[in-house]
Amino acid sequence: MRTVAVTKIGSLRDPDEGARGRIGVVDFPDQPLGPEDVRIRVAYAAICGSDPHLAEGFFGTDVPIGLGHELSGVVEALGERAVRNGLRVGDRVAGNFLRFCGTCRPCQDGRQQFCENIQEYNRPGMAETVTWHESQVYRLPDEVSLLKGCLLEPTSVAVRIADKTRIRVGDRVAVCGGGPIGQLALQVMRMYGATSLTMIEPIAERREMALRHGAQHVIDPVSENQFARADEITDGRGYDVVIDASGSVRAVRGLLDIAAKGGTVVYGAMYPHDFEMPLGLSDYLYLKELTLTGVFVSPYAFPRALQILPHLEVDELTAAVFDLDDAVAAFEAHMSGRHPKVIIRCNDVESAAGEGTP
Ligand SMILES: [Zn+2]
Ligand SMILES: [Zn+2]
Repeated sequence: MRTVAVTKIGSLRDPDEGARGRIGVVDFPDQPLGPEDVRIRVAYAAICGSDPHLAEGFFGTDVPIGLGHELSGVVEALGERAVRNGLRVGDRVAGNFLRFCGTCRPCQDGRQQFCENIQEYNRPGMAETVTWHESQVYRLPDEVSLLKGCLLEPTSVAVRIADKTRIRVGDRVAVCGGGPIGQLALQVMRMYGATSLTMIEPIAERREMALRHGAQHVIDPVSENQFARADEITDGRGYDVVIDASGSVRAVRGLLDIAAKGGTVVYGAMYPHDFEMPLGLSDYLYLKELTLTGVFVSPYAFPRALQILPHLEVDELTAAVFDLDDAVAAFEAHMSGRHPKVIIRCNDVESAAGEGTP
């Protein structure tokens, strides 16, 4: 089974070609179909901002490392007991790349994100097929195309970020980073009744995208004074909720200064292992009573992500589509930053099924 994988560890940005990480299409063995499993013929799998971190060896260095956790597809086969959610062969689906076992202590304690068996079904989905446990699979609503459906997983991350903000209607909200997670989080914050909704982002196209989908203000942190602008937008009070979706080590420290007293800052991205952010405990935790938190994965978020997906505006995120054989070019396009999101078409499921869905 052809699968997109990291074939050499290294930064995909390394100017030295000898040291640069590499992506390739590798043949992986088919996964077994257990009695509670669902085999999915993958239609679309999106490249995630975390994928280049995998190339750098963030989660291990044994290559090849199969990629792909944001996907949609069509049910191809069901194990004999995989019927509890009413799934049928031919259903259009998306889902959670992680299976929460339900049995371990964290799962039983309401903290599925720390499931001790979380890796068991974490299988690469940027592939011809992927086999998941039935609990990972969600049928897509009729009005959601397979192309849009591959954004269910990043949408679940935006939902989880929203959960961690503990936003109240009317709170002033800033989102830092206009990549896919930042754009989705912005739209989710808009649904929550956020005010002074601000996108902080250096790339002009991404600021414009945010303005088209609910941002009331945008700040270019390179050419503008972010602190003065934030003061002006919030009458000097700061934002009640600040979300980092940039993962930028240059950006993260300044977010503490634009947060309001008593505010919440959610660090909703991945950060380099060795990065340490200076944090004045007296200023930020004692005097300002900030709540700082983060997001690892998105438990308890998929059913709600499925509910809001039809209402999200994502055309800009689904515009760049490459075929599986062109995965290397797709990653180059991702690294270039030219597209807010790059998607790989793993199978031409739609014309095979005679479906007219875009
Ligand atoms: Zn992702
Ligand atoms: Zn568990």
